[in-house]
Amino acid sequence: MPALLKNHIAVITGAGSGIGRAIAVGYAHEGAQVLVLDINGETAAKTAADIRAGSGKAQHFTLDVTDRAACRATAAKVATEVGQVSILVNNAGINRRNAFTADPDAVVKDWQDIMAINLNGVFNVTHAFLGALRATKGRIVNIASIQSFMHVRTPNSPAYTSAKHGVLGFTRALAAELGKDGVRVNAIGPGLIETPLNAQVRANNPELVKIFLDHTPLGRAGKPEDIAGPAIFLASDLSAYVTGTIVMADGGYRTI
Ligand code: NAP
Repeated sequence: MPALLKNHIAVITGAGSGIGRAIAVGYAHEGAQVLVLDINGETAAKTAADIRAGSGKAQHFTLDVTDRAACRATAAKVATEVGQVSILVNNAGINRRNAFTADPDAVVKDWQDIMAINLNGVFNVTHAFLGALRATKGRIVNIASIQSFMHVRTPNSPAYTSAKHGVLGFTRALAAELGKDGVRVNAIGPGLIETPLNAQVRANNPELVKIFLDHTPLGRAGKPEDIAGPAIFLASDLSAYVTGTIVMADGGYRTI
């Protein structure tokens, strides 16, 4: 039985679906006690139940990462009822692909919603669990993107690109500040991963999918499970001397 994350308590946001769910399952397989957080309590409960059915340790909490007070309340509840969290994966996110020149109301709404979830949400949850992470010399894994580096080849909303650049900046800033506490902070940069987040784009925009695949040396889109391995690496002692960096899990997208 592998146990790279034995004795760890891991919080994963947005773990009711896609990449977060795959990371939760992977962490449980490595022996972590997994706390599945999602705005959707039903999908969060299903992820936790599926993990328990496979003999892993998991429970779920309904949490909207944009609600700072709720993030603090959840962290306090976890500390009382479960214990000190030593791994945090900031994964919850949304995407909308309106150009900046699209309908102004839509563009403003996209900016507000995407920033609130994809960037402010990362701040809210990290701040809420900071005490526990410092006390445990914990590990933070932020889910960034290839959009942390580029925009033109894979047009996306400016909000999404800005938020994912921000996630990388936040990762570097926290790594610099928290290293003296023994807290490691890293990011993962997924390429195109087949999840509900992009199901409509994959169904309706074959040209965009072709751009992705034409620039992916491995010649396929990723699966959520492709992100679990890097996430286990960054949360475990295998990466004991790794902080402030981003592990790209993009099939080589940025190489061609
Ligand atoms: P997904 O399957 O849609 O999963 C995201 C989860 O986050 C969903 O369960 C969603 O719930 C939840 N969520 C949304 N808003 C939330 C909030 N305010 N508070 C808490 N949870 C919330 O998407 P995914 O593809 O796995 O994406 C996970 C992360 O990977 C995101 O940060 C995304 O930007 C990033 N990423 C994805 C790709 C890709 O190609 N898929 C590539 C690069 C980076 P609902 O379903 O109820 O909204």
